[in-house]
Amino acid sequence: MIGLVKGWITLYNKGKAKEKPEITRKTIYIKNTLFSYKNGILKISIEPNKRYLEIDLRNYNWIPKDFDVLGGLLMTENELIITVKKKIEPKAEKWASFDVNLTNITALIDGEIKRYDLRELYHIHRVYELKRQKIQKLSKKKPKTAKKLMQKYPSREKNRAKDFMQKLTAKIAKELVEKKCGAIFEDLKNIKDRVLDKSKELNRKLSKWNARTFQFMLEYKLLWNSLAVKYADPKNSSKTCPLCSGSLASYEGRFMKCKICGCIMDRDVVAVINLQMWGSGVTLKGDKPAFAGDASQKLRGLTKAYVT
Ligand SMILES: [Zn+2]
Repeated sequence: MIGLVKGWITLYNKGKAKEKPEITRKTIYIKNTLFSYKNGILKISIEPNKRYLEIDLRNYNWIPKDFDVLGGLLMTENELIITVKKKIEPKAEKWASFDVNLTNITALIDGEIKRYDLRELYHIHRVYELKRQKIQKLSKKKPKTAKKLMQKYPSREKNRAKDFMQKLTAKIAKELVEKKCGAIFEDLKNIKDRVLDKSKELNRKLSKWNARTFQFMLEYKLLWNSLAVKYADPKNSSKTCPLCSGSLASYEGRFMKCKICGCIMDRDVVAVINLQMWGSGVTLKGDKPAFAGDASQKLRGLTKAYVT
């Protein structure tokens, strides 16, 4: 209601308002300061400290009894919509860890390495970037046309990119729900921005967008299903040997070689194994696993399977 009037005033001040605002949908949102709830009785303030509307919610057995808080209330002409909230403790029996790059995502889901191709997404980003650059050039000659194009294109490409990520995270979430797997992500807060040359700057920006959007969308879907989400510090996650904790040196292509035990592994695989160990408290060091014996043995077997 207030929003409606405020919006109208803004338009009126700009000289754009034609008629007085009209209320088409008679809906009121009742803030939580305007109602109280105690022992099953909901009291809505009609006139401050004078008139109340009292509803005994115990009379309506379709309202769940085990909620923790009453959320907002929405009153329409013939309905009162009540939202109830229940606090749930997200849990995970097993874990999945993810390493997001520019053109792919590597995952370790319940002891299995998986890769998701992001080349299509990269292509969408590139198309957007090329269009944006063209429009920018045009803006010197035809600023008005450029402005119009700028409003049209970015949102279109952004929606396509978001749509891609929405579908991918939905697919992964479904698998994690079936396997009762929580997720371990890289904590992006600890990644410092390195100064790179211009050509690499864009790729870094896109890589970051990929990671942030992926984490945000998947986290939301997992928490909705009461599955836990953890963040692990990714520092040195692709430079530490998962078998002996020795430091890894670049080998051929995407491979890394341990300076101590000599094992050779794909760097993204190393990253997801380390993230999962660090995030879930499992360690592979020494002959006898220190924590969670079973998970540790499983990870050790897996790690060895990926040693080239
Ligand atoms: Zn090693």
